[in-house]
Amino acid sequence: MTQVFKNITDKDHEQIVYCNDPSSGLKAIIAIHSTALGPALGGCRMYPYKNEDDALIDVLRLSRGMTYKASIANLNLGGGKAVIIGDPKKDKSEVLLRSFGKFVDSLNGKYITAEDVGMSVYDMEFIRMETKHVTGIQRAMGGSGDPSILTALGLYVGMQAALKKKLNINSMKGLKVGIQGLGKVGYYLCENLKKDDVEIYGYDIDKNRLNTAVEEHGLIPVSNDELLSMELDIFSPCALGAVINPSSIKTLKCAVIAGAANNQLEKESRDSKLLSEKGIMYVPDYVINSGGLMNVANELQGYNKDKAKYQVEGIYHILMRIFDYALSNKISTLEAANHLAERRIEEFVRWNHKWIEKQ
Ligand code: NAD
Repeated sequence: MTQVFKNITDKDHEQIVYCNDPSSGLKAIIAIHSTALGPALGGCRMYPYKNEDDALIDVLRLSRGMTYKASIANLNLGGGKAVIIGDPKKDKSEVLLRSFGKFVDSLNGKYITAEDVGMSVYDMEFIRMETKHVTGIQRAMGGSGDPSILTALGLYVGMQAALKKKLNINSMKGLKVGIQGLGKVGYYLCENLKKDDVEIYGYDIDKNRLNTAVEEHGLIPVSNDELLSMELDIFSPCALGAVINPSSIKTLKCAVIAGAANNQLEKESRDSKLLSEKGIMYVPDYVINSGGLMNVANELQGYNKDKAKYQVEGIYHILMRIFDYALSNKISTLEAANHLAERRIEEFVRWNHKWIEKQ
């Protein structure tokens, strides 16, 4: 068995497409993890991977994550992702993007692409010149625009669900929330929290981002160490992955962790266990940050902002179900989310087979 087949088999992928176009310089990998619930939707990342193996490992991991995110978000979508090997600052060009668009088009809608790290909404325009299977187009061009606004709304309702479950609190007034990372999502999160008179603390390595949140939303700036060790109702990682690890868990003094960053736990089972021993509720990242996916998914039927917002507000109920399932099965919230995401796929596939047999 070659290494590629071994990797695909290990994570249960359906199809991997290697895209090579010397005339545009495109080297890309599209990974389709699952189309059980629908076409595989997931962003395209452009990154200067050290080698092809690193690119393959990343795209396999990311596409699998999209299957779980779409399933738990009750979307009729599967999981996929693409990576373009190259430095977006130096290697990106119109022909490279259009070449990628042609490869996406050749899959006839089995994979739908979108924006990710190293790509912008403007890049999606070039891809759209070659394929209709692309989302995350600007609002002015009939698309769903920047997903961060609805990702932040999802965080806000998710925080309310966690506070209700953990502390039986219905209002966030006067509570303390600490945000690590005040980029697009962090900024809009502050906007939501400010309306509820929340005491917002925060840190960003970028002083301009931090100052904007201070000036516009009254955020109280603190150092990263202070953020990780102060008394908070909610700690919200909105910058990087792997910030929840044994050393940060030692210092954290919050009731809930609820943030937008992907892969917040350095090691899922170890860190989930440490958090529950400390009595800290972890809100699974891929569930609470699924507002962005709901937003782009909405674009597939013709974007409707009210509908997208309504769907995102439903994250409250999705999380309540996960919290209840975790409690009754004595498992972590992350395991509960994974079980429920897998169960939806399994039940759908079983039902669909029976339905086809009956016809
Ligand atoms: P962004 O790039 O706009 O903001 C990230 C911010 O984090 C920046 O301001 C950056 O300066 C800051 N930062 C980087 N390293 C830091 C550090 N060590 N300490 C403190 N701050 C640091 O990104 P975003 O769109 O706001 O997304 C935030 C996170 O949420 C990312 O991990 C992203 O993958 C995830 N996410 C975003 C969306 C979305 O709709 N934008 C959806 C799902 C998940």
